[in-house]
Amino acid sequence: MMKLYFDPSRCVRATSKFSTCTKCVDAAPEHISMLEHLPAFAKATGVEAAACLGACPTEAFALSDFSVTEFFFTFLESKVRLISSKVNVPCLSVLSVEHLISLALASEEPITLDLHSYEEGTHLFEVIENRIEEANFVLSSFSEKQLETNLDEAVDIDKKEKSQEPSRRDFFASASLKGALKHKKTFDDAVEAEELHHFEIDASMISKIKDKHLPDKRKILFTALKRADVPKVFEVLPEEEVSFVSQKFVDEKCTNCQICYRICPTGALSSNGKFSLINFDAMLCVKCHLCHDACEPDAIHLQPGFEIKELFESSQRTLATFDVRRCNECGNYFTYEGGEVTCPRCAVEEEEAIFLHANAKRMEKEKDEEK
Ligand code: SF4
Ligand code: SF4
Ligand code: SF4
Repeated sequence: MMKLYFDPSRCVRATSKFSTCTKCVDAAPEHISMLEHLPAFAKATGVEAAACLGACPTEAFALSDFSVTEFFFTFLESKVRLISSKVNVPCLSVLSVEHLISLALASEEPITLDLHSYEEGTHLFEVIENRIEEANFVLSSFSEKQLETNLDEAVDIDKKEKSQEPSRRDFFASASLKGALKHKKTFDDAVEAEELHHFEIDASMISKIKDKHLPDKRKILFTALKRADVPKVFEVLPEEEVSFVSQKFVDEKCTNCQICYRICPTGALSSNGKFSLINFDAMLCVKCHLCHDACEPDAIHLQPGFEIKELFESSQRTLATFDVRRCNECGNYFTYEGGEVTCPRCAVEEEEAIFLHANAKRMEKEKDEEK
């Protein structure tokens, strides 16, 4: 039976208590909930919560017996151009918008997504439909390629099976996938009876949380874009129409607290050895929103339009620069804002020392007067 796995160290909520990400819950609200700041789900949860795989910006979820990355390459090697939960995926919702765009770009022939087995009007149907629409919208800004959908006709599995290559046949023959579909009712009942998985962050995860990690789906998109023709004119898409990548700007409220570029899970935000600037690489951004959530002065913002040029000619942009100097007291670098060349920590310590010294003097004077 296919099971859902979750790696808490990949979730941006484990990186910061300020994260407000709920993309997995929004995609599969009947199966995923938030418990003590982290996603939680019943222990027996499997393919019915697959929509969280395609939704999570950092690929914190996985299914046993099915790898979306492996599927991507096996599918392209096969001759079949149909993606269906009856044929080669446990559910169409395992595919993210990035996967869909990459599949369309990497395939010579048009790809059809089989929506026939999903009930129109359900949440799952809408999640899948929205992803296909977004993928086609982004594709239409630089390519003739579009994903097609099959809504009306039931897929003839036998016919499809006969036309497939051996590698695909292996997919379909997966006992766990067949089992999950065949015993769905029993499976759903068992899910209800199960208690929730409760995830916690322990010390062993800290270094993995701090690791900068680019999800496989982004590496796949890089590869697929290399095969696409570079458009003559680059469009700018409304920021809210693109869910998986973004561009940023930083305003004057930024205090160079270093938080955003230290916690960015992919390394899209970075700095230099002196921490004298904030760099940003849009193609590494997975739009997890963590930098916005953690910025105390609310100084980092989404650019209103996403420039398609970034997909083809990715560039690192400097969002902010700072006058960084060595503190006269401790020798550490700090963001200089005028006046004494003393870092904020030393300035506070100096103030405290002056206060303590004045206090001691006053007490001494009071003692002398009492005598
Ligand atoms: S990062 Fe992924 S697992 Fe964590 S809350 Fe967001 S969607 Fe869920
Ligand atoms: S943008 Fe915000 S989080 Fe990033 S360094 Fe500036 S103040 Fe800190
Ligand atoms: S730049 Fe911000 S939104 Fe993009 S990946 Fe980094 S933390 Fe997430």
